[in-house]
Amino acid sequence: GLRLENVSFRYPGTERDVLIDINAAIPAGRHLALVGENGSGKTTLVKLLCRLYDPVRGRILLDGIDIREFALEDYRAAISVLFQDFVRYQMTAGENIRMGDVGVPPDDRRIGDAAQRTGAATVIDRLPGGYDQRLGRLFPDGAELSEGQWQRVALARCFLRQASMVFLDEPTSALDAKAERRLLASVLGNLAGRTAVVVSHRLSTVQAADRILVLVDGRMAESGSHVQLVQAQGPYAALFAVHGTS
Ligand code: ADP
Repeated sequence: GLRLENVSFRYPGTERDVLIDINAAIPAGRHLALVGENGSGKTTLVKLLCRLYDPVRGRILLDGIDIREFALEDYRAAISVLFQDFVRYQMTAGENIRMGDVGVPPDDRRIGDAAQRTGAATVIDRLPGGYDQRLGRLFPDGAELSEGQWQRVALARCFLRQASMVFLDEPTSALDAKAERRLLASVLGNLAGRTAVVVSHRLSTVQAADRILVLVDGRMAESGSHVQLVQAQGPYAALFAVHGTS
């Protein structure tokens, strides 16, 4: 599993810590949800987990070993990540998904399977060229997708990769609530058995996590299960405007 020990971080060339003394344990195969207002440090924490930056103080451990001790390519091979500003490759639909794992042959059925799991398959099947249809506006033969459709393709790319750790930053932000609810069951199903950290503003996503970490101005305001945090009537309950029964 992953463990964060007193993790603090400030961006190079800036004067302010954006993460302060974060402590959390994510046992192997469990799911942690990160919640908090914009600017509270959620994406930054995901960047540290990906080793795009290293903590300024404290450390992140994988199975007890500081992640800085692994060769970067070995560590990165073990993770799959979807950021909010994911890439829209101006290539075919199939290639867009295959970018998640270029070791998979172009015609492999795993590409269609991954698309099926995120609803991207329904979008791709309707394109004139199917999986061979070029996406995007850069080239004249490209078909442009909506934001939500691109997000499903990007999520399929993330699922193609059989990584043991998956980090998703607002994976369903571009979908409407109804479409998200339908996708959600399969997102969580796909993450079963994998260690996952999911940033989300959506209560439905967060509720299903094993543990929730609430960030306020870069600090851990509270953590626990959905039920515990609702009962605590603290920042989590306020964030989602949920009220306990007592
Ligand atoms: P969240 O994901 O919760 O919205 P972020 O992790 O994106 O929050 O941002 C946390 C803080 O770090 C914010 O104050 C933001 O302005 C700052 N920040 C984010 N990226 C950078 C960067 N590349 N350089 C300097 N400051 C940054």
